[in-house]
Amino acid sequence: MTVMPRPSILSVEPYVGGESKVPGVNRIIKLSSNEGAFGPPPAAIEAIAAGAREAHRYPDGGAAALREAIGARFGLDPARIVCGNGSDELLAMLILAYGGEGTELIMSAHGFMMYEITGRWAGCQVIKVPEKNLTADVDGLLAAVGPRTRLMFLANPNNPTGSILAQSEVERLRRELRQDVLLVLDSAYAEYVTRPDYDPGQKLVDSTPNTVMTRTFSKIFGLGGMRLGWAYAPAAIVDILGRVRGPFNVNAAAMAAGIAALAEPGWIEKSIAHNTEWRGKMAAAAEGLGLKVWPSEGNFLLVDFGDAARAKAADAHFRARGLIVRAMGGYGLPQCLRITIGNAEECQMVIDALTDFTRG
Ligand SMILES: *Cc1c(COP(=O)(O)O)cnc(C)c1O
Repeated sequence: MTVMPRPSILSVEPYVGGESKVPGVNRIIKLSSNEGAFGPPPAAIEAIAAGAREAHRYPDGGAAALREAIGARFGLDPARIVCGNGSDELLAMLILAYGGEGTELIMSAHGFMMYEITGRWAGCQVIKVPEKNLTADVDGLLAAVGPRTRLMFLANPNNPTGSILAQSEVERLRRELRQDVLLVLDSAYAEYVTRPDYDPGQKLVDSTPNTVMTRTFSKIFGLGGMRLGWAYAPAAIVDILGRVRGPFNVNAAAMAAGIAALAEPGWIEKSIAHNTEWRGKMAAAAEGLGLKVWPSEGNFLLVDFGDAARAKAADAHFRARGLIVRAMGGYGLPQCLRITIGNAEECQMVIDALTDFTRG
């Protein structure tokens, strides 16, 4: 006799994060986790350091000051914001609260991996719906709904494809989706989006009882190491999250860093301008070299090398120069690499490496 986990746990493939080391290479440029081009905002670094002497104190379990700051920044009611240890934790809380054994969770075929990992952990049957042009297919998602469906996840823009659904399509998805299916709009890359019609989810959260938006400090705010995310939800769902949330799930340093990051003057504007400029330059360069680049609304590009062997060779070529990008085999896209938009020097190194690779 031996201890055994619930059987569904054994179907979980552990998440493999972006690598950060290459043996024998001294200077590493990590472009594998979409961490933001500029590091943490200076004010956040100071706030983390300043809080160290109070590290013996428990944090504010309700994250009141942080929720106030998020609400003020994005024009939202702080009472309907829930903070988490990364948005990953909020996704897990939603899945465990609304899904579980005997239920189905629907996601897009190349949707963010954590939905599947956490869905299986919870015991949900995870249904992956084929995409059109590496973009979520609203009709397909709707057709996949069955009597046991309780959850649907849509990253918009999506990681790793970079694709985005028009606002009218997201609204149609909600309108035609059964009322007892919770729609989670994961807007981890919302700040980078430049499309004028884009709404990260607040409109649908405000106008429906069954839609939640999740956001993160890990991408444009450069605080992935702090683990800080938030959800905006209808009051009844906030109530449920309040029941399952750990009492001190967000640590004090993360809260202080988040508040400071929101107040850093010009941070978002500077990051968007840089991202839009270099995402365009990198895409144009790669296309000029004959590579297919998928349109991206995030701080990364999905580059298609035609076949898995060539993508692997490109990956090795990058690594030899200390550039770490993300292989996509785990997402069923082995012919692609996902490359984060780093700072200007890093982007230029990517362009140079691609140039050498395709001409060499
Ligand atoms: C990075 C990412 C997250 C995870 O964010 P954390 O707040 O760091 O947990 C969630 N969703 C998508 C689509 C992401 O790319």
